[in-house]
This record gives sequence, C-alpha cells and structure tokens, in this order.
Amino acid sequence: MENLWTRCNNCRRIQYKQDILDNLSVCPACGFHFRLSARERLAQLFDEGRYQIYDEKVRPQDPLNFRDTQSYSDRLKRNQMKTSLPDAVLNAQGNMDGIPVLISAMEFGFMGGSMGSVVGELVTRAFERALQERLPVLVVSCSGGARMQEGVLSLMQLMKTSAAIARLEEGGVPYISILTDPTTGGTTASYAMLGDINIAEPQALIGFAGPRVIEQTIKEKLPKGFQRSEFLLQHGMLDAVVERRFLRDFCIRSLRLFLNRPQ
Ligand SMILES: [Zn+2]
Repeated sequence: MENLWTRCNNCRRIQYKQDILDNLSVCPACGFHFRLSARERLAQLFDEGRYQIYDEKVRPQDPLNFRDTQSYSDRLKRNQMKTSLPDAVLNAQGNMDGIPVLISAMEFGFMGGSMGSVVGELVTRAFERALQERLPVLVVSCSGGARMQEGVLSLMQLMKTSAAIARLEEGGVPYISILTDPTTGGTTASYAMLGDINIAEPQALIGFAGPRVIEQTIKEKLPKGFQRSEFLLQHGMLDAVVERRFLRDFCIRSLRLFLNRPQ
C-alpha cells in the first residue's frame, strides 16, 4: 500500500504515484521532473514506446581489481541485479514519428550513471552505427561523471566518444544531446556537450566540477543556481531547455530540420 503514494522532492506534497506516472513522471503540482530510468526514457521517446536493444552483451570488467568499501566486482553484480542492466547505459533503435533513430539512454540507478569502459564503448558504438547506417542519434545523459573504479580507462572514454562524434559530424549525421538531472563530470566534459544541439530538461544539474571545488579554485562566491539548465541556457552553454512533455516533439522537429524532411 505504501507504494501507492510518494512525496515530491520539490514541493513536498504527497501525491498519488500513478498521477505522477501518468504525467511522464513530472509532478502535477509543481512541475518537478523526476528522474527516469533508461527504459522509461526510451519508452517515452520512441513511437508507441517500442524499440530494439543493441549491444547488451558488452559487459564490464574489473581490470584494476579495485576495492573501496567493497570490491568493484561485487558492486557491479549488485547494480546489475538492482537494474537488470549490464552497465549504466542502454542502446536502442526505434522510430520517432516514423523516423528511424538510435538512442543511447543512461541509467542513473546503475552506480550513479557513472561512465566506465562499457558506457564509453556503447555510446561510441551508437555513434559508429549511426554513421554506418546514416541514422540520427540521440544520447540522453544522466550521469555523475567518469567511474573512478576504472581509473584512467574511464578517462579514456572522453577521447574515444569525442573522436567518434567528430567522425559523425564529418559524415553529416545529426546528433542530439539531451542533458537530464544530473549531468556532471566527464560526461559533461565529453559527449553530453558535443551535440549538434544540446538540450536539457528544466532545473537539471549540469556541470563539470562541484560548486565547492570551483569556489575554492577561483576564490569567488558562485551565483545561485549557476549549474542549472536555465542558467546554462542564459550563458550560451545550451540551445534550449525543454519540458519533458514537449521533449519528444522538440526532438522530432529538430530531426526533420536536420534531415530536411518537413513531413
Ligand atoms: Zn512537486
């Protein structure tokens, strides 16, 4: 019974869970955008919520035998059980208003959507497939940044994904980047900011380093909300902030413009 109700993190109002779900997981009272799983995101973007998954056999390794409070291998297993995903991203193909597209959707529920070798590899594969088959590609970022448990192997993904985007651009295949709450660290520092257009959901936390680190470095007080979508849009870091209920239509319109397909 307790699962029927939930409290909005923003307006603190208790809500019937189904009302929020029926509203694309946006609070009907205050418009707060709840975080979506990768599967929910794909279902919302593709026609009739239908899509085919690719690259699901790529699985993470523990090359550094990393251990913090627990071993990385155990952490991986636990997160795989929790999310039923091999790692923090899903690659899928489907249609948007009849246009075939590829979408890479990140899963925050898997180790905070951190980008290790598998995330980097899958996002790169999406770009490579997009180029090969000349299909537009969308990446929906939701990520705390590079995955520390894979050390420099995670950092290498910044170059790999960025190089793949450069080839995609040369090939003239459109790439739309959607930044959702949160998109930070190495994800922001690579593919999330390299779309032909970069769009974000309202009030999403977007940044590279956290506010405390920046304040200590530049020795200045930061303005309020400086790492939220609206602030980034004002300062030219984003092309648009789009509410979830308009997001699919916004992408379809952009795709039609890119592909010169008015109908
Ligand atoms: Zn609310």
